[in-house]
Amino acid sequence: MTRDEIRELASFQVDETKGACALSFYFQPDPPQDRSHRREAIVAKDVVKQALKSAAASGKNGSVHADLDRVLDLATNLRGNARGKAVFACSARNFWKEYELPPHLGATRIFLQPRFQLKPLAALLGAQPALCVAMVDRQRARVFDLRLDDLRERGAIVHMLSRNSASYGYNGYEGGHAERRVSEEALQHFKAVAERLRTDFEKGIWERLIVGCQDANWPEFEAHLHPYVKQRLIGRFSADVASVGNEEIRDHAGAVLNRWITERASTKASEAVDFAKSNGRGVTGLRRVLRALESGEVQTLFLADNYSARAVECPNCGHLDAHLVTSCVACGHLTRELNDVSDAIIPIAIRRDIELLYLKEHADLDHAGSIAALLRFRSDQRTGQIAVAS
Ligand SMILES: [Zn+2]
Repeated sequence: MTRDEIRELASFQVDETKGACALSFYFQPDPPQDRSHRREAIVAKDVVKQALKSAAASGKNGSVHADLDRVLDLATNLRGNARGKAVFACSARNFWKEYELPPHLGATRIFLQPRFQLKPLAALLGAQPALCVAMVDRQRARVFDLRLDDLRERGAIVHMLSRNSASYGYNGYEGGHAERRVSEEALQHFKAVAERLRTDFEKGIWERLIVGCQDANWPEFEAHLHPYVKQRLIGRFSADVASVGNEEIRDHAGAVLNRWITERASTKASEAVDFAKSNGRGVTGLRRVLRALESGEVQTLFLADNYSARAVECPNCGHLDAHLVTSCVACGHLTRELNDVSDAIIPIAIRRDIELLYLKEHADLDHAGSIAALLRFRSDQRTGQIAVAS
């Protein structure tokens, strides 16, 4: 799934007054230990059948029915699927997209709304950096890209070591000499791998790095990493490069990544709340966050995992208001009410490349209204600075 594809989903909107609907379907497989029960496909079918019933009851037209029928077909075949899945459909606009996703989507759900429901996707994508996983030992390196659980090998570096010193027999001159040669070769290999990581980083191929190697090799390899490559390192795991399988690499790296994402989101959210108090680069509460969004100041947006709030949206100019006013304060057009303002905020964040982070049980954020933002700048302060400068 590319950024452009996500942006396309975020820009999609139908006119509900004409009976059209944007269908979003998320399939969450059972956790591995429950997989033998095969409940997941039954749950998925029930969810779609329920949606078919309510669509019929509310007199939704044929195109919605056609989309639901097609999703029901798909759900019937999901038995045994260990990956998550998302479908976005609107046959009235001839739109159908299916995506395989990591199995962290919360629950199997279906949504029929004027826009695609992107919260499960945003929660998943929000914090995902372009990740490089480097598997390194004394003579091999395999370099992978990890994007949303999708692990792809990008390249390998191999410098096979000279015959092992042990084969020279006794601990005589020959043996010691060969040993030194082998460690010199390993050192050159580590240098070459570190150099490759640096140039790939400079080309923008990756943003964050995870290293998998044997504990014994780490200090030697780490010493060759360029300082700004090291700054981008988010963790390491122990593995034997010669024997490790791709599944195992993905699982280890995924665990390191999740830990990093959770810690980083939590630290940044506390920062936003602190900055808001000191009138710096942060705001809290829906009203102020909406204002910062409209003035283009928001860099990172933080939402409590269960956040939901009513608001109104202007269908004419797009203005969002936390006060449930009937006419838009910006253009006077009649507003429409949103049951959950997140439905409008998430697409804005995606379209503008604003980082979106969801947090579970974050005391600072919860006390500050469960929504906060870090700002790129503050328009009021910047104006002040310009005035001082002139
Ligand atoms: Zn307006």
